[in-house]
Amino acid sequence: MSLFSKLLGVLRGGSRPAEDAGRNAFWIYVRCDACGESIRVRVNREHDLSAEFDEGSDAPASFHVHKEIVGQNCFRRIQVDMTFDQQRRVTDQQIRGGTFLTSEAYVAAVAGQGAEKPESPAPPSASA
Ligand SMILES: [Zn+2]
Repeated sequence: MSLFSKLLGVLRGGSRPAEDAGRNAFWIYVRCDACGESIRVRVNREHDLSAEFDEGSDAPASFHVHKEIVGQNCFRRIQVDMTFDQQRRVTDQQIRGGTFLTSEAYVAAVAGQGAEKPESPAPPSASA
């Protein structure tokens, strides 16, 4: 039961901001231009990406994902479009109605908002 409620907390985004997004997934962090709210959205490389094909080709030439993000402070929509290469690495990203944040900026912003408190300090990043 405790594990289940823990899982629910993760699904509701009520847990640590710096958590791992999971296998084949990553977080995108944005800030709403209208109200300044910091929001994160999970992108799953297996389920969220749509393949784009060149004419006459069976293999996907690239992948694309479109996200419409609505925060809790206002109902302005933030539109995110990302393009990936065949290895599903990000090659281009566009945003309307918001600004991309780094994970560090997101964590700092959320801590400043007082909306969420990390249970423990974020794990050190891989960089020295
Ligand atoms: Zn907003």
